[in-house]
Amino acid sequence: MAELTLKQVRKSFGALEVIKGVDLEVASGEFVVFVGPSGCGKSTLLRIIAGLEETTSGRLTIGGKDVTYAEPSERGIAMVFQSYALYPHMTVAENIGFGLSLARRPKAEIAEKVAAAAETLQLTHLLQRKPKALSGGQRQRVAIGRAIVRDPRVFLFDEPLSNLDASLRAQMRLEISELHARLNSTMIYVTHDQVEAMTMADKIVVLNGGAVEQIGSPMELYRNPATPFVAGFIGSPK
Ligand code: ADP
Ligand code: MG
Repeated sequence: MAELTLKQVRKSFGALEVIKGVDLEVASGEFVVFVGPSGCGKSTLLRIIAGLEETTSGRLTIGGKDVTYAEPSERGIAMVFQSYALYPHMTVAENIGFGLSLARRPKAEIAEKVAAAAETLQLTHLLQRKPKALSGGQRQRVAIGRAIVRDPRVFLFDEPLSNLDASLRAQMRLEISELHARLNSTMIYVTHDQVEAMTMADKIVVLNGGAVEQIGSPMELYRNPATPFVAGFIGSPK
């Protein structure tokens, strides 16, 4: 059974159609990358999956359940943003556990999950710090920790590394790939960076102007690009 399906998903803002009938199946445990130039609709599609934007038409399922009209909190997803969106007045531990506190989970359970996520992300020694006393990479790990403690069926990442410098980006790429291997969870990762797409993805979805140009493994896209757009985009450096 597919973990996530999109059927003819469309989205318009006023008269402007920005997602033009996207079909997609994501298997459980798959690492799927949405790649394409700025403005092609990557974030909008991710926000539709998250439930932060409503589809104009089409259907979505997660875990076999129709979630087309479900609230974000009912979808079994957790999203990691580019901007981290950490709370400056809270410690790392409080930031990681915040969603669970909101959901009124027992304190002992929150502490246990925060400790486990911190261990996974090598943040244990930083749990009492405030975000301003962290490096960019550490902040990004906290944002990922906040997603991990919610035990989502599907992780959604929107250009999580674009605020980091090149060497840190390469390191975090590896860390996210390792995290995927360790958690064995389904992940959807948005980027405009071909290198991230080619090195991290099990499956790449190439978007152009709100429509899917091609879906395939990095090797399939590299060997058999379906269109000149895909050939140019995958072939050209950033
Ligand atoms: P990407 O993430 O690939 O850069 P986006 O999904 O952010 O692209 O945007 C796709 C298109 O939708 C762009 O033309 C953008 O201007 C438009 N768009 C996104 N959000 C809104 C909105 N809330 N209202 C109007 N237009 C929007
Ligand atoms: Mg975007």
